[in-house]
Amino acid sequence: MFMLDDYKDTQNTAYGILSNAINNNKISHAYLIETLGNNKGFDFAISFAKTLLCPKGLTNNKNCENCIQCKLIDDNNYIELEIIETNDLWLKKDSIDKLQKDFNFKPIVGKRKIYIIKNAEKIRESLANTLLKFIEEPEEGIIAILVTDNKSKILDTIISRCQIISLKNTNSTYAFDKNEYGDELINSVIKFLNFYEEKKLETIVYANDLFHSYMKDRNDYLLAFNLILMYYNDVLNYKLNGDLICFKEYVNDYKYIDNLSIENVLEKINIVIDLKGNILNNVNLNLLVDKLVISFKKVDDNDIC
Ligand SMILES: [Zn+2]
Repeated sequence: MFMLDDYKDTQNTAYGILSNAINNNKISHAYLIETLGNNKGFDFAISFAKTLLCPKGLTNNKNCENCIQCKLIDDNNYIELEIIETNDLWLKKDSIDKLQKDFNFKPIVGKRKIYIIKNAEKIRESLANTLLKFIEEPEEGIIAILVTDNKSKILDTIISRCQIISLKNTNSTYAFDKNEYGDELINSVIKFLNFYEEKKLETIVYANDLFHSYMKDRNDYLLAFNLILMYYNDVLNYKLNGDLICFKEYVNDYKYIDNLSIENVLEKINIVIDLKGNILNNVNLNLLVDKLVISFKKVDDNDIC
């Protein structure tokens, strides 16, 4: 049985993004779900698809479990949901051809038709070109959900057309262990972000004192970016559920929480995830932090107008 509700706590960010999109009727026509080793990642994708296909969908953030569509989806027997997967090294052209044939017309039952491509990293470049147009200009009501373990394995051309949803790896019981980071690092990161939320671009001038002076090596930057991610995840949690998870005792430091929209926070989270991926790639870390500040500012600017 697949239920998006089941991920409310364990995947609060992903759940928050998608339930928000559903409630505001702002569904993208292509999603890329990055599972990051979470063994429930594919189930999550089906649960999301089910919520989109069920005529009752997500009402008051609660799934329906009784309708015919939901039952058929649980039995893997619903004609408007197609799952594409392969045990081969690459996805075959035949399966994409068949998909395009099946999805060449509007849904027969209900308003939506969804295909899920499991292991989307198996789409090779030659096949991607066929698929791109299909992802980009679908018939009305058609939604693509691509699933991959790690989005760095996915072609950029595909990534740029999808909304990215990154799951947390909860296979190992996740707990925020303050000792792993140390008080000094946590305090400096929170101070840095609070400073940014107040002073915006001016942060770059003080980045050395506020940030770099606390970092001994690349690994510290990695930890700091994890903390930045947790900070904004916490802000998101607060906005969605009225509660902070990681940094409860710093609640007084979050002075700007009410000024940030959910979309603003989500965009910042995506920026941090993207930049964090570069830390181990020998990039100039001063520039990376400047880029973080500048990208945040762009998000804030868009938020105002
Ligand atoms: Zn239903």
